[in-house]
Amino acid sequence: MYFNNTNNFFHGIMFHHFHDEKLHVKSQGSISSDDLSSLVKFIGRKNIIDAEVFYEKYYNKKLNNREVCFTFDDAIKCQIDVALPVLEDLKIKSFFFIYTSIFDGKPDNLEVYRYFRTICFEKIDDFYFYFYKVLGKDLKFFFDENEKFIINRKKICPYYSIEDIKFRLVRDKFLSKNNYEKIMNIIMKEKKFSPSKYYKTLFFDKKDLKRLSSLGHSIGLHSHSHPTLLESLPNNLQKIEYEKCIGILADILETSRSEIKFMSHPCGSYNNDTLEILKELGIKMGFKQIMNLEQDRGMKNINNSFLEIARQDHADIMKRM
Ligand SMILES: [Zn+2]
Repeated sequence: MYFNNTNNFFHGIMFHHFHDEKLHVKSQGSISSDDLSSLVKFIGRKNIIDAEVFYEKYYNKKLNNREVCFTFDDAIKCQIDVALPVLEDLKIKSFFFIYTSIFDGKPDNLEVYRYFRTICFEKIDDFYFYFYKVLGKDLKFFFDENEKFIINRKKICPYYSIEDIKFRLVRDKFLSKNNYEKIMNIIMKEKKFSPSKYYKTLFFDKKDLKRLSSLGHSIGLHSHSHPTLLESLPNNLQKIEYEKCIGILADILETSRSEIKFMSHPCGSYNNDTLEILKELGIKMGFKQIMNLEQDRGMKNINNSFLEIARQDHADIMKRM
C-alpha cells in the first residue's frame, strides 16, 4: 500500500534514472523497466493520473488525496529507452521537465559526472575518497560547522546517504562551480574519460522531445543550464534561465510559448523572484522535489502554491516496496 498518513495528499512522483541490460548502466538510484512496472502496481494504476488531467483537476479543485502524476526530470536518454515503453504500454501520460542547454551541446556536467562516477568507480564512496584526495583540503571544520544542516538534510532527503549529503555540500558551498569543475576535470583526465563521447547515450535529442509531445506527454521547463542553486542567482540571471528555456522548447516543438505551461524547479531550488518570473512567463503549474512542509520558508501547506507542488522521489518508494 503506497498511501499512508505521510503522503495522503495529491503530489507528483519524481523520476530520474533508469537502467537496462544494454546501454544504460546501473547507477545510484536507477531502476529497471520491471521496477517501474512494479512501482505502478504498488501505487495503484488507477491513482496515477495523466499529466494534462492532473493539471485540469488541480484547477477545478477535483484532485483527491490519493491521486499522483508521473514526472521525469533532466531529459536523460534512459527515460526514453527504458521508461517510455512502459509508460506507453500502461497508457500513462507524464510530465517531462527539460533543461535546454543540452540542445546547445552544453549539457549539465552533473549528468556527465554521474555517469563518469558510475562507470569509472566501483562504489560511490570510492569516488568520494578519490575526490577528497585530489581536493587535498582538511574539511573537518567545514563539516562540524554544517553538522545541523547535514542532519536536517538527511531527514528531508532520506534517499541520500550522509556521505552523499557531505559531498553535495562541499560541491555547492565549499567550492565554487569553477573550482569544482577543475577538480572533476583532473579526475576525468586521470581516468582517461572523455565526456563528449557519451552525450548521445546520456541525453535527449530534439526528435525525442517531438516524439514525447506527439505521444501526448507534457513538456515543461527546468531552466536553461540547470544551476544547482538557482535561488542564489540574481533576478536577471534567473529570468534568462527560464526565458531561454521556454524559447528553445517552443522552437523545437514548433508551438507558441503560451502552450508551455508546466515546470519543475532544478534541484528543488527557487525563491520568490523565481516564482514571480514563472508567473510572468505564464507557467500554470510547478513542482518542487520534496514532500515536507518547509517552515523556514513560511509554508502553511505542503502543496504551497500552484508553483510548489510536492513530489516523492521514486527511490524512496522503491525502498518501501
Ligand atoms: Zn534536474
